[in-house]
Amino acid sequence: MEELLLIPGPVAVAPDVLEAVGSPMRDHRGPRTKAVFDRLFTQMQEIFQTREQVLILASSGTGGLEAALVNVLSPGDRVVAAPIGYFGDRFANIARAYGARVEVLPTQWGERTDVAALRAMLRADTRAEIKAVLLTHNETSTGGCDDVEALAAARGDHPALLLVDSVSGVGAVESKMDEWGLDVVVTASQKALGGVPGAAMIAFSSRAWQAAETATMPRFYFDARTARTSAAKGQTPYTPPVSVLLGLERAADNYLQEGRSAAFARHARYASAVRAGCTALGLEIFARPEARSNTVTTVRAPEGIDVPAWRQALRERHGVIVGGGLAKLEGKVIRIGNMGALRSADFDRAFAALGHTLRDLGAGVDVEAGRQAVEAALAPAASAL
Ligand code: PMP
Repeated sequence: MEELLLIPGPVAVAPDVLEAVGSPMRDHRGPRTKAVFDRLFTQMQEIFQTREQVLILASSGTGGLEAALVNVLSPGDRVVAAPIGYFGDRFANIARAYGARVEVLPTQWGERTDVAALRAMLRADTRAEIKAVLLTHNETSTGGCDDVEALAAARGDHPALLLVDSVSGVGAVESKMDEWGLDVVVTASQKALGGVPGAAMIAFSSRAWQAAETATMPRFYFDARTARTSAAKGQTPYTPPVSVLLGLERAADNYLQEGRSAAFARHARYASAVRAGCTALGLEIFARPEARSNTVTTVRAPEGIDVPAWRQALRERHGVIVGGGLAKLEGKVIRIGNMGALRSADFDRAFAALGHTLRDLGAGVDVEAGRQAVEAALAPAASAL
């Protein structure tokens, strides 16, 4: 039975991307690799919607978040973190680990950051002590999405830098780095762009590059200035994950051929089908309606259903792999991702499996209703709307 990978990253990877990953090894500083870097840099500028140099790090997304912080901040700097879930908490924790004084703008999991509260916090800081605001574009734990555009606008003329974790956002949801005035944006290869894990992509605004000149948080491997110098030569300072990048180049090719808007629409269509299917099965979607992600849906398990047993049944009887809950949501929810190389038929299969496993485990669900809701949401007429 072929596995259907529906976790919110790493995602299912297209065959041509896997083929590129399997290419013979090459000189990482030779002309053929330089050509790959030069292409990737251009592709990433288009994907990030920025004119700035996008750097590629040999790291998962978390290394990208660390790089975002250590390159623009100094120990003791006042930082506002606006976590909306587990990954936002992680971003704040990395800042603390490097000695930032982190103030949290609290938000209930499943909700969005209160734009007015952020605006008020920045306005009250008349001495401009707040050096950075940490945002999560798409919160993969709660299935939430923050309104980064509105939050960026709320900064007004306060000089705080906006650092954005868009690990599960870039590529799937609109993210206009330059137009919105975002200062550091981070994403990773194994999410919406459909690559394999191993690369983080990060871009700095000109203000962030200025901050990098005076920032004193310790950094070496993730020093963006070294990476920028190497990027100008079509290289990275240290050995790049060559195979990952060959795959990413192909994945980005596929992505740009589809087109950004079409890719956003695809993610929106798949996510709305997942939400419709879950609702028809009587499952409660965790995130508030106005805060829902287009890349991952977090749903509560029905009363009396053991989540590990449910996920095991999905995996073993149907080959369907979904994510579990993180931190305080562990054992309470499952997470269904809709990024990567998926087709409409995959959601039909997934919802048949979700419905049947729930019924087998004793939940009173209408399996056909779930499938029909998904089918209706993915029908050509619905997607043309
Ligand atoms: N932030 C978000 C929003 C994520 O979804 C993830 C990965 N699930 C991370 C950060 C961490 O990325 P990685 O696991 O690649 O280090």
